[in-house]
Amino acid sequence: MLFGTGKAAGALPRYCQSRVKPATFLLLLSIIICPLDLQADIRVALFQKELPKSVIVTSNTGLQLKDPVNNKIVFTQTGMVRLKLQKKGQRVFWSYNGKNTGKLVKIDVSSLEENKSLYLTTKKISGREYSGKLEVLATPEFLLVINIVKEEEYLCSVVANEMPVNWPAAALAAQAVVARTYMLKNLARHQVRKYDFCDLAHCQVYQGKEKISKAVIKAVKETRSLILRYQEKICDVYFHSTCGGRTAAVQSVWPQSTPLPYLQGQKENETGRAFCEPSPHFRWSISMALSEIECLLKGIKNNKLHSLQKLTIKKVDAAQRVQELKATYANGDLLLSGEIFYLNWGRKYGWHQLKSTKFQIETRKKKYLFVGQGLGHGVGMCQWGAYGRAQNGWGFRRILNHYFPGTQIKPATEPVHCFPPAIGHPASGR
Ligand SMILES: [Zn+2]
Ligand SMILES: [Zn+2]
Repeated sequence: MLFGTGKAAGALPRYCQSRVKPATFLLLLSIIICPLDLQADIRVALFQKELPKSVIVTSNTGLQLKDPVNNKIVFTQTGMVRLKLQKKGQRVFWSYNGKNTGKLVKIDVSSLEENKSLYLTTKKISGREYSGKLEVLATPEFLLVINIVKEEEYLCSVVANEMPVNWPAAALAAQAVVARTYMLKNLARHQVRKYDFCDLAHCQVYQGKEKISKAVIKAVKETRSLILRYQEKICDVYFHSTCGGRTAAVQSVWPQSTPLPYLQGQKENETGRAFCEPSPHFRWSISMALSEIECLLKGIKNNKLHSLQKLTIKKVDAAQRVQELKATYANGDLLLSGEIFYLNWGRKYGWHQLKSTKFQIETRKKKYLFVGQGLGHGVGMCQWGAYGRAQNGWGFRRILNHYFPGTQIKPATEPVHCFPPAIGHPASGR
């Protein structure tokens, strides 16, 4: 169990923020001592990278299957259980000991004992441990597996998968606050499919209990319920690996975004050396032939030009990120944004080669050399910068105040799932 007994550090859970009457003191105390029971559930769709047609569920302490339509238990087995769930048509079939024992459109799966893990195996994943319960549904194309998990446990997984778990405590705590803020701001992001988040970077990366360490649990517990607010509203927060010297203004990366005052880009350099300089992505370069660039530009909609002769940078923003490029062809010019160029490169030749839009172009004979800094979109918190600042003794509050100036770190008080679905950008992906 991730959050057992023990003193809950920091602010009260947000369920405890309402007026406290003396009569409720003992109840409140029990909430503080054992907060797990009162956390809200988050619904996360698993295996979104591979979309399986079957999944094997294992439990060491027994499990049960329930028909959610009439709330009837349709299968129970104690002890060590290994159950296969398979999509056939519009039904989920379950088989135990090699025998098909039933089918339903939708099945609820839970461990017989509370707070015991379930282990899931697919073609690509072997025995990954998950907390909470599962809802399994046959869609026309694949088996949809939704993990219903307590929000702080969800956050532990997100922090462990979005930042190296051996990083300093203050960096992990800053990540926990950012992850919690993003979670609350973007609840019900996939509400059309009846879940909150996918398990990919589109939302935040979630891989069950894999990678979760004591340091991560401590970071989530110590920042319990804390989120970033601006004028009392929950902030739009983003993070990225390495800014390369300066974080970016949100509207320069995503032109359709509201230019929020706390997302206008911050200097990374205070001592003559950028805090994110230890990052392996701080400086990079990659070369490409003009013919290969022509090939990737063919992917741009309505581009009918031919015989590319030159590619030049036309405009950069305050963070020195490329905003506009000009491709000169034999029969005309094409203007395109740095973001479109970056996205087309990733789709055509693979992601994280051209690591960001913060680059210069040098020509070497028939090759173009892209010399760049940083990895990711550059908006919000620079993770390697948070690492560098934590190494220099900064606490998580100071780190967050730097990357999101003018915001306040306060407990969340909103009831869960009362937000309209957000159509935002991914926290860290593009
Ligand atoms: Zn998503
Ligand atoms: Zn940085």
